[in-house]
Amino acid sequence: MDFDPPAAVRPLLEKYERFVRETVMPAEHEVLEKGFAASDQLLRDLRGKAKAAGLWAPQLPKDVGGLGLSLVEHGLVSERLGHSPLGHYVCGAQAPDAGNAEILHKYGTGEQKSKWLEPLARGDMRSCFSMTEPENPGSNPTMMSCTARRDGDHYVIDGHKWFTSSADGAAFAIVMAVTNPEASPHARASMIIVPTDSPGYERVRNIKIMGDAGDAWASHAEIWYRGVRVPVTNRLGAEGAGFLIAQERLGPGRIHHCMRWIGICERVFDTMCRRISTRQIAEESHQTLASRQIAQAWVAEARAEINASRLMVLHAAWTIENKGFQMAREEVSLIKFYVANAMLKLVDRAIQLHGALGITSDTVLAHYYVHERGARIYDGPDEVHKMVVAKRILGKYQQS
Ligand SMILES: Cc1cc2nc3c(=O)[nH]c(=O)nc-3n(C[C@H](O)[C@H](O)[C@H](O)COP(=O)(O)OP(=O)(O)OC[C@H]3O[C@@H](n4cnc5c(N)ncnc54)[C@H](O)[C@@H]3O)c2cc1C
Repeated sequence: MDFDPPAAVRPLLEKYERFVRETVMPAEHEVLEKGFAASDQLLRDLRGKAKAAGLWAPQLPKDVGGLGLSLVEHGLVSERLGHSPLGHYVCGAQAPDAGNAEILHKYGTGEQKSKWLEPLARGDMRSCFSMTEPENPGSNPTMMSCTARRDGDHYVIDGHKWFTSSADGAAFAIVMAVTNPEASPHARASMIIVPTDSPGYERVRNIKIMGDAGDAWASHAEIWYRGVRVPVTNRLGAEGAGFLIAQERLGPGRIHHCMRWIGICERVFDTMCRRISTRQIAEESHQTLASRQIAQAWVAEARAEINASRLMVLHAAWTIENKGFQMAREEVSLIKFYVANAMLKLVDRAIQLHGALGITSDTVLAHYYVHERGARIYDGPDEVHKMVVAKRILGKYQQS
Protein backbone atom coordinates (compact mmCIF):
# COMPACT_ATOMS: atom_id res chain seq x y z
CA MET A 1 0.00 0.00 0.00
CA ASP A 2 1.47 3.33 -1.07
CA PHE A 3 0.69 6.22 1.29
CA ASP A 4 2.45 8.81 -0.88
CA PRO A 5 0.24 11.09 -2.98
CA PRO A 6 0.11 9.81 -6.59
CA ALA A 7 3.35 10.84 -8.37
CA ALA A 8 1.40 12.57 -11.15
CA VAL A 9 -0.15 15.11 -8.77
CA ARG A 10 2.75 15.72 -6.37
CA PRO A 11 4.09 18.77 -8.25
CA LEU A 12 0.53 20.06 -8.55
CA LEU A 13 -0.02 19.74 -4.80
CA GLU A 14 3.13 21.72 -4.11
CA LYS A 15 1.95 24.36 -6.57
CA TYR A 16 -1.42 24.64 -4.85
CA GLU A 17 0.21 24.87 -1.44
CA ARG A 18 2.51 27.66 -2.57
CA PHE A 19 -0.23 29.52 -4.44
CA VAL A 20 -2.53 29.51 -1.41
CA ARG A 21 0.28 30.57 0.95
CA GLU A 22 1.84 33.25 -1.24
CA THR A 23 -1.09 34.60 -3.27
CA VAL A 24 -4.36 33.80 -1.50
CA MET A 25 -3.56 34.16 2.20
CA PRO A 26 -2.27 37.75 1.90
CA ALA A 27 -5.71 38.80 0.58
CA GLU A 28 -7.64 36.95 3.28
CA HIS A 29 -7.93 39.62 5.93
CA GLU A 30 -9.15 42.27 3.49
CA VAL A 31 -11.82 40.03 1.95
CA LEU A 32 -13.09 38.73 5.29
CA GLU A 33 -13.24 42.26 6.71
CA LYS A 34 -14.84 43.99 3.69
CA GLY A 35 -17.01 41.11 2.49
CA PHE A 36 -17.11 39.33 -0.85
CA ALA A 37 -19.12 41.89 -2.83
CA ALA A 38 -16.84 44.80 -1.90
CA SER A 39 -13.81 42.63 -2.72
CA ASP A 40 -15.10 41.61 -6.13
CA GLN A 41 -12.22 43.07 -8.15
CA LEU A 42 -9.59 41.62 -5.85
CA LEU A 43 -11.23 38.20 -6.05
CA ARG A 44 -11.46 38.42 -9.85
CA ASP A 45 -7.75 39.22 -9.98
CA LEU A 46 -6.95 36.26 -7.76
CA ARG A 47 -9.10 33.96 -9.88
CA GLY A 48 -7.28 35.22 -12.97
CA LYS A 49 -3.98 34.29 -11.31
CA ALA A 50 -5.30 30.83 -10.45
CA LYS A 51 -6.31 30.29 -14.09
CA ALA A 52 -2.98 31.57 -15.39
CA ALA A 53 -1.16 29.21 -13.03
CA GLY A 54 -3.17 26.21 -14.29
CA LEU A 55 -4.94 25.77 -10.96
CA TRP A 56 -8.54 26.41 -12.03
CA ALA A 57 -11.35 23.94 -11.27
CA PRO A 58 -9.37 20.89 -10.17
CA GLN A 59 -12.57 18.89 -9.64
CA LEU A 60 -14.10 19.49 -13.07
CA PRO A 61 -13.60 17.26 -16.10
CA LYS A 62 -11.20 18.49 -18.77
CA ASP A 63 -13.95 18.91 -21.39
CA VAL A 64 -15.34 21.84 -19.38
CA GLY A 65 -12.01 23.43 -18.57
CA GLY A 66 -11.14 21.62 -15.35
CA LEU A 67 -8.07 19.59 -14.42
CA GLY A 68 -9.98 16.30 -14.54
CA LEU A 69 -8.54 14.99 -11.27
CA SER A 70 -9.76 11.80 -9.66
CA LEU A 71 -11.65 12.02 -6.38
CA VAL A 72 -8.59 11.02 -4.33
CA GLU A 73 -6.41 13.51 -6.21
CA HIS A 74 -8.94 16.27 -5.82
CA GLY A 75 -9.27 15.41 -2.13
CA LEU A 76 -5.57 16.10 -1.71
CA VAL A 77 -5.93 19.39 -3.59
CA SER A 78 -8.99 20.31 -1.51
CA GLU A 79 -6.89 19.95 1.65
CA ARG A 80 -4.36 22.49 0.28
CA LEU A 81 -7.15 24.86 -0.76
CA GLY A 82 -8.63 24.54 2.73
CA HIS A 83 -5.56 26.25 4.21
CA SER A 84 -7.37 29.52 3.46
CA PRO A 85 -11.10 30.37 3.72
CA LEU A 86 -10.71 31.78 0.17
CA GLY A 87 -8.82 28.86 -1.36
CA HIS A 88 -11.71 26.96 -2.95
CA TYR A 89 -13.41 30.11 -4.21
CA VAL A 90 -10.27 31.53 -5.81
CA CYS A 91 -9.56 28.25 -7.60
CA GLY A 92 -13.15 27.64 -8.79
CA ALA A 93 -13.71 24.62 -6.55
CA GLN A 94 -16.24 26.09 -4.12
CA ALA A 95 -19.51 24.60 -2.92
CA PRO A 96 -22.27 24.71 -4.01
CA ASP A 97 -21.05 25.41 -7.57
CA ALA A 98 -18.74 22.39 -7.60
CA GLY A 99 -21.60 19.99 -6.84
CA ASN A 100 -23.99 21.73 -9.21
CA ALA A 101 -21.46 21.59 -12.03
CA GLU A 102 -20.94 17.92 -11.34
CA ILE A 103 -24.61 17.01 -11.71
CA LEU A 104 -25.08 19.33 -14.70
CA HIS A 105 -22.17 17.57 -16.35
CA LYS A 106 -23.65 14.15 -15.67
CA TYR A 107 -27.38 14.79 -16.19
CA GLY A 108 -27.60 18.07 -18.12
CA THR A 109 -28.97 18.23 -21.66
CA GLY A 110 -26.87 19.90 -24.37
CA GLU A 111 -28.88 23.09 -23.95
CA GLN A 112 -28.53 23.07 -20.13
CA LYS A 113 -24.79 22.55 -20.46
CA SER A 114 -24.22 25.44 -22.82
CA LYS A 115 -26.57 27.76 -20.91
CA TRP A 116 -25.60 26.92 -17.32
CA LEU A 117 -22.67 24.53 -16.99
CA GLU A 118 -20.18 26.25 -19.29
CA PRO A 119 -20.41 29.74 -17.75
CA LEU A 120 -20.45 28.15 -14.29
CA ALA A 121 -17.29 26.19 -15.06
CA ARG A 122 -15.58 29.34 -16.37
CA GLY A 123 -16.49 31.20 -13.18
CA ASP A 124 -18.61 33.69 -15.15
CA MET A 125 -21.71 32.90 -13.09
CA ARG A 126 -22.55 31.40 -9.74
CA SER A 127 -25.32 29.05 -8.65
CA CYS A 128 -27.04 27.71 -5.55
CA PHE A 129 -28.84 24.58 -4.41
CA SER A 130 -32.26 25.05 -2.86
CA MET A 131 -33.59 22.05 -0.96
CA THR A 132 -33.96 22.75 2.77
CA GLU A 133 -37.19 24.32 4.05
CA PRO A 134 -37.71 26.14 7.35
CA GLU A 135 -41.00 24.33 8.02
CA ASN A 136 -39.65 20.81 7.43
CA PRO A 137 -36.73 18.74 8.76
CA GLY A 138 -33.77 19.06 6.44
CA SER A 139 -32.44 15.84 7.97
CA ASN A 140 -35.40 14.05 6.34
CA PRO A 141 -35.84 15.99 3.10
CA THR A 142 -38.51 13.63 1.77
CA MET A 143 -40.80 15.73 4.01
CA MET A 144 -40.93 18.56 1.47
CA SER A 145 -43.66 21.13 0.86
CA CYS A 146 -42.26 22.85 -2.26
CA THR A 147 -44.17 21.73 -5.34
CA ALA A 148 -43.59 21.95 -9.09
CA ARG A 149 -46.92 21.54 -10.87
CA ARG A 150 -47.02 20.75 -14.60
CA ASP A 151 -48.82 23.36 -16.70
CA GLY A 152 -48.40 22.43 -20.37
CA ASP A 153 -44.72 22.57 -21.18
CA HIS A 154 -43.90 24.48 -17.97
CA TYR A 155 -43.51 23.78 -14.27
CA VAL A 156 -45.05 26.21 -11.79
CA ILE A 157 -43.02 26.20 -8.58
CA ASP A 158 -44.34 27.21 -5.17
CA GLY A 159 -42.26 26.84 -2.04
CA HIS A 160 -40.32 28.34 0.83
CA LYS A 161 -36.63 27.48 1.21
CA TRP A 162 -33.83 28.54 3.46
CA PHE A 163 -30.14 28.01 3.92
CA THR A 164 -29.76 28.21 0.17
CA SER A 165 -26.03 28.93 0.32
CA SER A 166 -24.59 31.52 -2.05
CA ALA A 167 -27.98 32.54 -3.51
CA ASP A 168 -26.96 36.21 -3.20
CA GLY A 169 -25.65 37.01 -6.68
CA ALA A 170 -26.31 33.53 -8.10
CA ALA A 171 -27.63 33.36 -11.68
CA PHE A 172 -29.64 30.20 -11.08
CA ALA A 173 -30.83 27.86 -8.38
CA ILE A 174 -31.21 24.11 -8.66
CA VAL A 175 -34.48 23.64 -6.78
CA MET A 176 -35.75 20.41 -5.27
CA ALA A 177 -39.53 20.31 -5.63
CA VAL A 178 -42.23 17.66 -5.41
CA THR A 179 -43.36 16.75 -8.93
CA ASN A 180 -44.83 13.31 -8.20
CA PRO A 181 -46.74 13.53 -4.89
CA GLU A 182 -48.26 10.06 -5.26
CA ALA A 183 -44.92 8.29 -5.73
CA SER A 184 -42.89 6.65 -2.94
CA PRO A 185 -41.08 9.24 -0.76
CA HIS A 186 -37.73 9.00 -2.54
CA ALA A 187 -39.30 9.24 -6.01
CA ARG A 188 -41.46 12.32 -5.37
CA ALA A 189 -39.08 15.16 -6.06
CA SER A 190 -37.23 16.49 -9.09
CA MET A 191 -34.38 18.95 -9.56
CA ILE A 192 -35.35 21.99 -11.59
CA ILE A 193 -33.12 24.83 -12.78
CA VAL A 194 -34.62 28.20 -11.87
CA PRO A 195 -33.02 31.42 -13.15
CA THR A 196 -32.96 33.85 -10.24
CA ASP A 197 -34.42 36.64 -12.40
CA SER A 198 -37.63 34.60 -12.87
CA PRO A 199 -40.82 36.42 -11.82
CA GLY A 200 -41.95 35.02 -8.44
CA TYR A 201 -38.41 34.29 -7.23
CA GLU A 202 -37.73 36.34 -4.08
CA ARG A 203 -34.54 36.24 -2.04
CA VAL A 204 -35.95 37.47 1.26
CA ARG A 205 -32.67 37.91 3.17
CA ASN A 206 -29.26 36.56 3.87
CA ILE A 207 -29.72 34.74 7.18
CA LYS A 208 -27.44 35.89 9.98
CA ILE A 209 -25.08 33.17 11.15
CA MET A 210 -24.15 33.97 14.75
CA GLY A 211 -24.62 37.64 13.96
CA ASP A 212 -23.03 37.69 10.50
CA ALA A 213 -25.28 37.72 7.42
CA GLY A 214 -22.31 37.60 5.04
CA ASP A 215 -22.81 38.47 1.39
CA ALA A 216 -22.43 37.20 -2.18
CA TRP A 217 -20.90 33.71 -2.26
CA ALA A 218 -20.36 33.74 1.52
CA SER A 219 -24.02 33.80 2.54
CA HIS A 220 -27.08 31.63 3.14
CA ALA A 221 -30.45 32.88 1.93
CA GLU A 222 -34.12 32.51 2.67
CA ILE A 223 -36.09 32.31 -0.57
CA TRP A 224 -39.72 32.26 -1.64
CA TYR A 225 -40.76 30.68 -4.93
CA ARG A 226 -44.24 32.01 -5.70
CA GLY A 227 -45.73 30.67 -8.92
CA VAL A 228 -42.32 30.61 -10.62
CA ARG A 229 -42.74 29.35 -14.20
CA VAL A 230 -39.91 27.55 -15.91
CA PRO A 231 -39.92 25.33 -19.02
CA VAL A 232 -40.07 21.57 -18.41
CA THR A 233 -36.76 21.43 -20.27
CA ASN A 234 -35.20 23.02 -17.16
CA ARG A 235 -35.63 19.76 -15.26
CA LEU A 236 -32.35 18.03 -14.51
CA GLY A 237 -32.54 14.28 -15.15
CA ALA A 238 -35.73 12.24 -15.03
CA GLU A 239 -38.90 13.33 -13.26
CA GLY A 240 -38.80 11.97 -9.69
CA ALA A 241 -35.03 11.41 -9.79
CA GLY A 242 -34.22 14.36 -7.50
CA PHE A 243 -33.13 12.31 -4.48
CA LEU A 244 -31.14 9.89 -6.59
CA ILE A 245 -29.18 12.77 -8.12
CA ALA A 246 -28.87 14.45 -4.70
CA GLN A 247 -27.18 11.32 -3.32
CA GLU A 248 -24.68 11.37 -6.16
CA ARG A 249 -23.99 15.02 -5.46
CA LEU A 250 -23.49 14.45 -1.75
CA GLY A 251 -21.04 11.52 -1.92
CA PRO A 252 -18.10 13.31 -3.57
CA GLY A 253 -19.29 16.56 -1.94
CA ARG A 254 -18.63 15.11 1.51
CA ILE A 255 -15.11 14.10 0.46
CA HIS A 256 -14.49 17.67 -0.76
CA HIS A 257 -15.82 19.13 2.51
CA CYS A 258 -13.92 16.71 4.75
CA MET A 259 -10.62 17.32 2.98
CA ARG A 260 -11.28 21.07 3.16
CA TRP A 261 -11.82 20.66 6.91
CA ILE A 262 -8.50 18.83 7.19
CA GLY A 263 -6.91 21.81 5.42
CA ILE A 264 -8.55 24.03 8.05
CA CYS A 265 -7.20 21.74 10.79
CA GLU A 266 -3.66 22.09 9.45
CA ARG A 267 -3.98 25.87 9.31
CA VAL A 268 -5.38 26.05 12.84
CA PHE A 269 -2.81 23.57 14.15
CA ASP A 270 0.00 25.66 12.69
CA THR A 271 -1.51 28.86 14.13
CA MET A 272 -1.85 27.20 17.54
CA CYS A 273 1.68 25.75 17.61
CA ARG A 274 3.21 29.09 16.61
CA ARG A 275 1.31 30.92 19.30
CA ILE A 276 2.04 28.59 22.19
CA SER A 277 5.72 28.42 21.20
CA THR A 278 6.11 32.19 21.53
CA ARG A 279 3.57 33.21 24.17
CA GLN A 280 5.53 33.67 27.39
CA ILE A 281 3.43 32.85 30.44
CA ALA A 282 6.00 32.92 33.24
CA GLU A 283 9.12 34.96 33.82
CA GLU A 284 11.36 32.15 35.03
CA SER A 285 13.40 30.65 32.15
CA HIS A 286 11.19 32.45 29.61
CA GLN A 287 8.57 29.74 29.87
CA THR A 288 6.05 29.68 27.05
CA LEU A 289 2.64 28.06 26.88
CA ALA A 290 4.29 25.21 24.99
CA SER A 291 6.00 24.17 28.24
CA ARG A 292 2.64 23.29 29.81
CA GLN A 293 1.36 19.73 29.69
CA ILE A 294 -2.19 20.71 28.81
CA ALA A 295 -0.97 22.50 25.67
CA GLN A 296 1.33 19.62 24.80
CA ALA A 297 -1.51 17.13 25.19
CA TRP A 298 -3.74 19.19 22.90
CA VAL A 299 -0.98 19.36 20.29
CA ALA A 300 -0.47 15.60 20.37
CA GLU A 301 -4.20 14.83 20.34
CA ALA A 302 -4.80 17.21 17.44
CA ARG A 303 -1.96 15.66 15.42
CA ALA A 304 -3.40 12.18 15.96
CA GLU A 305 -6.92 13.27 15.02
CA ILE A 306 -5.80 15.13 11.87
CA ASN A 307 -3.74 12.18 10.68
CA ALA A 308 -6.58 9.75 11.44
CA SER A 309 -9.05 12.02 9.63
CA ARG A 310 -6.90 12.20 6.51
CA LEU A 311 -6.48 8.45 6.27
CA MET A 312 -10.21 7.89 6.79
CA VAL A 313 -11.24 10.44 4.16
CA LEU A 314 -8.77 9.24 1.54
CA HIS A 315 -9.94 5.69 2.17
CA ALA A 316 -13.56 6.77 1.69
CA ALA A 317 -12.61 8.58 -1.55
CA TRP A 318 -10.73 5.51 -2.77
CA THR A 319 -13.75 3.31 -1.96
CA ILE A 320 -16.14 5.58 -3.89
CA GLU A 321 -13.77 5.62 -6.84
CA ASN A 322 -13.03 1.92 -6.94
CA LYS A 323 -16.21 0.31 -5.61
CA GLY A 324 -18.93 2.92 -6.13
CA PHE A 325 -20.82 5.18 -3.73
CA GLN A 326 -23.13 2.45 -2.44
CA MET A 327 -20.14 0.49 -1.12
CA ALA A 328 -18.79 3.60 0.58
CA ARG A 329 -21.90 4.70 2.49
CA GLU A 330 -20.54 3.65 5.87
CA GLU A 331 -17.13 5.25 5.26
CA VAL A 332 -18.75 8.48 4.06
CA SER A 333 -20.96 8.69 7.16
CA LEU A 334 -17.99 7.96 9.42
CA ILE A 335 -15.87 10.75 8.01
CA LYS A 336 -18.71 13.26 7.95
CA PHE A 337 -19.16 13.31 11.74
CA TYR A 338 -15.63 12.31 12.77
CA VAL A 339 -13.78 15.00 10.80
CA ALA A 340 -16.31 17.75 11.54
CA ASN A 341 -15.91 17.10 15.27
CA ALA A 342 -12.12 16.84 15.11
CA MET A 343 -12.01 20.20 13.31
CA LEU A 344 -14.36 21.99 15.68
CA LYS A 345 -12.60 20.62 18.77
CA LEU A 346 -9.28 21.84 17.44
CA VAL A 347 -10.64 25.30 16.53
CA ASP A 348 -12.08 25.64 20.03
CA ARG A 349 -8.83 24.56 21.71
CA ALA A 350 -6.74 26.85 19.51
CA ILE A 351 -9.00 29.76 20.49
CA GLN A 352 -8.65 28.79 24.16
CA LEU A 353 -4.86 28.77 23.93
CA HIS A 354 -4.91 32.18 22.20
CA GLY A 355 -6.88 33.68 25.08
CA ALA A 356 -8.75 36.88 24.24
CA LEU A 357 -6.90 37.16 20.93
CA GLY A 358 -8.61 33.93 19.86
CA ILE A 359 -12.07 35.48 19.73
CA THR A 360 -10.99 38.58 17.80
CA SER A 361 -10.80 38.88 14.03
CA ASP A 362 -7.03 39.41 14.27
CA THR A 363 -6.50 35.70 13.56
CA VAL A 364 -8.53 33.43 11.29
CA LEU A 365 -9.74 31.34 14.26
CA ALA A 366 -12.91 33.30 15.04
CA HIS A 367 -13.97 33.12 11.39
CA TYR A 368 -13.71 29.34 11.52
CA TYR A 369 -15.49 29.18 14.88
CA VAL A 370 -18.52 31.00 13.45
CA HIS A 371 -18.62 29.77 9.89
CA GLU A 372 -17.61 26.15 10.31
CA ARG A 373 -19.96 25.27 13.19
CA GLY A 374 -22.48 24.27 10.53
CA ALA A 375 -20.21 21.37 9.56
CA ARG A 376 -21.92 19.16 12.12
CA ILE A 377 -25.34 20.04 10.69
CA TYR A 378 -25.27 20.31 6.88
CA ASP A 379 -24.96 17.32 4.55
CA GLY A 380 -26.55 15.28 7.33
CA PRO A 381 -26.30 16.07 11.05
CA ASP A 382 -23.90 14.00 13.18
CA GLU A 383 -26.72 12.03 14.75
CA VAL A 384 -28.10 10.83 11.42
CA HIS A 385 -24.69 9.68 10.20
CA LYS A 386 -24.01 7.87 13.48
CA MET A 387 -27.37 6.15 13.16
CA VAL A 388 -26.56 5.05 9.58
CA VAL A 389 -23.23 3.57 10.68
CA ALA A 390 -24.61 1.88 13.78
CA LYS A 391 -27.57 0.37 11.91
CA ARG A 392 -25.26 -1.15 9.31
CA ILE A 393 -22.94 -2.59 11.92
CA LEU A 394 -25.68 -3.89 14.20
CA GLY A 395 -27.63 -5.27 11.24
CA LYS A 396 -24.87 -7.82 10.72
CA TYR A 397 -25.27 -9.01 14.31
CA GLN A 398 -29.01 -9.44 13.90
CA GLN A 399 -28.52 -11.64 10.82
CA SER A 400 -26.13 -14.05 12.54
C1 LIG B 1 -23.86 26.36 6.85
C2 LIG B 1 -25.02 25.62 6.22
C3 LIG B 1 -25.16 25.62 4.84
C4 LIG B 1 -26.24 24.98 4.24
N1 LIG B 1 -26.39 25.03 2.88
C5 LIG B 1 -27.48 24.48 2.31
C6 LIG B 1 -27.71 24.63 0.90
O1 LIG B 1 -26.91 25.23 0.17
N2 LIG B 1 -28.86 24.13 0.39
C7 LIG B 1 -29.79 23.48 1.15
O2 LIG B 1 -30.80 23.06 0.62
N3 LIG B 1 -29.60 23.33 2.48
C8 LIG B 1 -28.48 23.82 3.09
N4 LIG B 1 -28.30 23.70 4.44
C9 LIG B 1 -29.32 23.07 5.25
C10 LIG B 1 -28.92 21.71 5.80
O3 LIG B 1 -28.92 20.77 4.78
C11 LIG B 1 -29.87 21.37 6.96
O4 LIG B 1 -29.69 22.33 7.98
C12 LIG B 1 -29.65 19.97 7.50
O5 LIG B 1 -30.04 19.00 6.58
C13 LIG B 1 -30.42 19.75 8.81
O6 LIG B 1 -31.75 20.07 8.64
P1 LIG B 1 -32.49 21.08 9.67
O7 LIG B 1 -31.64 22.26 9.86
O8 LIG B 1 -33.87 21.28 9.18
O9 LIG B 1 -32.49 20.30 11.06
P2 LIG B 1 -33.57 19.22 11.56
O10 LIG B 1 -33.83 18.23 10.49
O11 LIG B 1 -34.71 19.93 12.16
O12 LIG B 1 -32.73 18.49 12.70
C14 LIG B 1 -32.35 19.21 13.88
C15 LIG B 1 -31.45 18.35 14.72
O13 LIG B 1 -32.16 17.21 15.14
C16 LIG B 1 -31.30 16.12 15.29
N5 LIG B 1 -31.80 15.01 14.43
C17 LIG B 1 -32.38 15.11 13.23
N6 LIG B 1 -32.71 13.89 12.77
C18 LIG B 1 -32.34 13.01 13.71
C19 LIG B 1 -32.41 11.59 13.84
N7 LIG B 1 -32.92 10.84 12.86
N8 LIG B 1 -31.90 11.03 14.96
C20 LIG B 1 -31.37 11.79 15.95
N9 LIG B 1 -31.28 13.11 15.88
C21 LIG B 1 -31.75 13.73 14.79
C22 LIG B 1 -29.90 16.59 14.85
O14 LIG B 1 -29.17 16.97 15.98
C23 LIG B 1 -30.21 17.81 14.00
O15 LIG B 1 -29.13 18.74 13.98
C24 LIG B 1 -27.20 24.32 5.06
C25 LIG B 1 -27.05 24.31 6.45
C26 LIG B 1 -25.98 24.95 7.03
C27 LIG B 1 -25.87 24.95 8.54
